[in-house]
Amino acid sequence: MSRILIAEDEPRLSSFLVKGLKAAGYTTTVCEDGVRAADLARASDFDLLILDIGLPGQDGFAVLRALQARRERLPVLVLTARDEVEDMVTGLDLGADDYVTKPFVFDELLARVRARLRQAGGGESSPSMVLAAGGITLDVRTRRASADEEEAELTAKEFSLLETFLRHPGQVLSREQLLSHVWGYDFDPGSNVVDVYVGYLRRKLGSERFETVRGMGYRLRT
Ligand code: CA
Repeated sequence: MSRILIAEDEPRLSSFLVKGLKAAGYTTTVCEDGVRAADLARASDFDLLILDIGLPGQDGFAVLRALQARRERLPVLVLTARDEVEDMVTGLDLGADDYVTKPFVFDELLARVRARLRQAGGGESSPSMVLAAGGITLDVRTRRASADEEEAELTAKEFSLLETFLRHPGQVLSREQLLSHVWGYDFDPGSNVVDVYVGYLRRKLGSERFETVRGMGYRLRT
């Protein structure tokens, strides 16, 4: 199982990342300042660092410099605010592998995380690539989905929603959970987009598979 260190001082964002990455099968550790991030990156055996630039203690660039000075081979995915994007040239010079601009949707971040870990050769330790439950199969790599052997064409959002269900078969998932996982932490919680998309999945994969749990959310029947 791949281990991810998250250096992020905004609690709402770090808990959003932890929830999503755990659901995707990763182990996470969070730290909130740059000094500690550099220490942890050295002391422990992580497979990836997700690094915020605006950190207390020392900023993300200083963390990158510290890792570079130690010739640390840890892959780094930087989180950056929109107005810091120009600075990312510096970040990439300092050895960052990739960056994501805030606000981002979880899907985008997860795709980058997977790509980084794959490149680092974390092949066998990466989470399962073919998910199956309740007669539905989803190949995360080829992005193919089928229900009872019949292939279904899914949009990116439908795919990501279905992936979330398949990682929690039989479990009730609240609208908020699905919203934050698929649409991102900044999405309006009053939106009915989840209900609309569960409707799409029902139409494409069979309505009986996605159960409405009144007042709570949805469940993938197994
Ligand atoms: Ca910050």
